[in-house]
Amino acid sequence: MEDENFITEKCLRFILEASKNFYPKEFIALLSEENDALNEIYIIPNTTFGDTFSSIDLWMVPIGINAIGSIHSHPNECFTPSRADLNFFEKYRVNLIVKKPYKCLEDVAAYNKHGKRVNLCIKNEF
Ligand SMILES: [Zn+2]
Repeated sequence: MEDENFITEKCLRFILEASKNFYPKEFIALLSEENDALNEIYIIPNTTFGDTFSSIDLWMVPIGINAIGSIHSHPNECFTPSRADLNFFEKYRVNLIVKKPYKCLEDVAAYNKHGKRVNLCIKNEF
């Protein structure tokens, strides 16, 4: 179902940890899935990590990775996607925003390519 998305516990832990480590800058990466769950994280070379804006150089995305999602962190306690976020979301099926305090699933929101909030559940290892 399109509105239901899954993430492995391992992947969730990684993005929470990375978001915390990058704070107050934004962490941004691409995601691919395995067995219907977001599982792999790709940090793209040449990514600009900024205080209020992060961008990925899409020319640097390695050929052969099948990125179906994105993740970036917000340096505050607000999920609300910016206009730039919404433009970026159009490229991927599922887009995660991680907010402070970067602790658990409640600090992660998932959006589809149209910027509509969708469900995100943990799927345990295969
Ligand atoms: Zn954002």
